[in-house]
Amino acid sequence: MHNLDSIFKPRSIAIVGATPRPGSIGREILNNLFAYEFNGKVFPVNPRHEYIHSTKSYPSVEAIPDPVDLAVIVVPAAHVQGVVEECGRKGVKGLVIITAGFRETGEEGAKREDAIIEIARRYGMRMIGPNCMGVIDATPAVRMNATFSPGIPPTGTVAFMTQSGALGVAILLAVQKLGLGFSYFASVGNKADVGAMDLLEYWENDPDTQIIAMYLESFGDPRRFTELSKRITRRKPILVVKSGSSAAGARAASSHTGSLAGLEVASEALLQQCGVNRVSSIEEMIHAVAGFVGAPVPGGNRLCLVTNAGGPAIMAVDAADGHGLQIATLSEKTRAGLRSVLPLEASVENPVDMIASAGPDQYERVLDLVLADDGVDIVIPIFVPPLMVEPLEVIRRITRVARARGKPVFSVLMAEEAYYARIPREIERAVPIYRFPEDAVKVAEQMNRYRLWRARPAGEVHVFEADVDRARAIVEKKRRAGGGYLAPSDAHALLDAYRFPLCHYAVVPAGADLRAAAKELSFPVVLKVVGATIVHKSDVGGVTVGIADAGALVEAGRAMETALKRAGVFERATGFMVQEMAGAGPNAAAGSAKEVILGVAQDPKFGPLLMFGMGGRYVEILRDVAFRVLPMTDIDAREMVRSIRSFPLLEGVRGDARVDIEFVEESILRLAQLVHDVEGIAELDMNPVIVTTDRAGCRVVDVRVNVV
Ligand code: ADP
Ligand code: MG
Repeated sequence: MHNLDSIFKPRSIAIVGATPRPGSIGREILNNLFAYEFNGKVFPVNPRHEYIHSTKSYPSVEAIPDPVDLAVIVVPAAHVQGVVEECGRKGVKGLVIITAGFRETGEEGAKREDAIIEIARRYGMRMIGPNCMGVIDATPAVRMNATFSPGIPPTGTVAFMTQSGALGVAILLAVQKLGLGFSYFASVGNKADVGAMDLLEYWENDPDTQIIAMYLESFGDPRRFTELSKRITRRKPILVVKSGSSAAGARAASSHTGSLAGLEVASEALLQQCGVNRVSSIEEMIHAVAGFVGAPVPGGNRLCLVTNAGGPAIMAVDAADGHGLQIATLSEKTRAGLRSVLPLEASVENPVDMIASAGPDQYERVLDLVLADDGVDIVIPIFVPPLMVEPLEVIRRITRVARARGKPVFSVLMAEEAYYARIPREIERAVPIYRFPEDAVKVAEQMNRYRLWRARPAGEVHVFEADVDRARAIVEKKRRAGGGYLAPSDAHALLDAYRFPLCHYAVVPAGADLRAAAKELSFPVVLKVVGATIVHKSDVGGVTVGIADAGALVEAGRAMETALKRAGVFERATGFMVQEMAGAGPNAAAGSAKEVILGVAQDPKFGPLLMFGMGGRYVEILRDVAFRVLPMTDIDAREMVRSIRSFPLLEGVRGDARVDIEFVEESILRLAQLVHDVEGIAELDMNPVIVTTDRAGCRVVDVRVNVV
């Protein structure tokens, strides 16, 4: 038996604070338990009443003669602690604390909450809330509605969790209206004990739950969330509305990665990496739930539209553009079939426009033809009811063919309000219905995304040979010295420990002879200013590339000195770096070398955030970057590289050769390993990494590492 069974599958429930007073929460919960016909015993607890709702009432939990599994507590905040203690003594195993006035109100409330957490732990009780609207187990064996929401929640296969009680009521009502049903519903409030992780675990193997939907304001433990949801989404879709944002964007950052790792980046990356279907609003979530409940996951991404009006179909095609869906090309056989059932004026290409006269028969026959086409994976029939055509009959026929063909069909009905309410009542398990084409397209996208995720291999976390001890020692030394930016030699040594390819270089103090430094290097070289407080060197004239010989080097040194003085930063220069040129060697096809950026920023909750993107001096302007959280698998790295807009540049366009993309992927994985192994790296930028057609020519030419 799972320890959340005491909450979701109790055999007896005490309602502490039940009252007969109309409009009170205590009364509503009692009413709901009765109305839903809970399969167990219900004990109202209230010392001021002998009976409530014709049911004997008890003066205290301990006065109940039978064992009590779950206590639902609605007494005022000041009394909750005493009641919880009493429940402990009584041997109650589950608590649902509806009462508000705890952590959400400030310090005093937080103390009260800590006190009840302590008592619950001491007695081994699991607890939902406080400050929540209750829980529902809608499975036939239990039928427990311990919430104060109006209506009778229908039974179905969706387990729903919400952090906000108010949104919970809205969701319950919306779901009822669509004729969808729940397996469970949990409003978790302050999450003093039970939170998203516990519920995910509970629902993972629950046979009554096929879909998990969550409204989250924060993740408990992001690592655990990742691990769990990666596993669960292989079998059941998880839909998440995530509001609120991570704190990473709040602090100022001087690195490229730090400044780009703004609000939301971390949770976005995390949700994407664990196969969660993120939706942007409650409405979108309900649409998606309707899709997952009412249609099979598609076998591909090829979309066909069937319509009786041009405009909505065009909107659907526009909405589908660029979001992973393809407009299907119908086979010759399908088109011939369509020609035989449609009038001459109709279009037999996708979108199939049946013109306004189309009725139930045409919808049924046309839908059957396109669903039979092997080149079609998803169909969106659009129906704008003309006078004289009965919308429900059209939906009934669409439903019938969709079931028979077993492919996903998301129907758009642009009809009068009254019809939507009639559909769930009059058509059994109707296809999902949407009011606008964009809504249906979005759901098709969500389901296609889920298809891709399930088809995606799990991937592996690689462990490369590396000198971990040396890397740790470098960072540790800087930490003991109070942190800050690593000197170029240390930053290079850190990367070298993880086998990143670096350019040969020499650093000379300001004023020393540059020619001597260049003796061990081969020309052409680059001259750069060195100074811990000079962040972007080229901004102040501190980078000169393509220096052909010793004479030019001396000349470049003089010119740089002048430039630095003019920029007012000469005093901040501690020295100069002479570095060999990358991208110019025998393996680099001229013009094909590309600059990319690899970086790390820390998020206080999510840990290291990895960044990859097009690099160089315009990173912040182009913002063509992608983020991921740890752990990083080889598949994650592959997808990350392909997710930026400029990816085609790496593949080679306009006569450029393809650069070594596998080298880039491997570098991302090495960087993930580095930040995983070495503690204390607050920010790291490799910008640019010059990537050539062959890994032999690839080099990290600029690196900054900030240690805390
Ligand atoms: P900063 O980012 O501080 O301005 P960088 O060291 O990144 O300085 O140099 C700026 C630009 O100069 C790079 O984006 C790159 O185009 C070029 N560059 C720098 N070092 C090299 C090198 N060793 N080989 C080739 N190009 C280089
Ligand atoms: Mg740079």
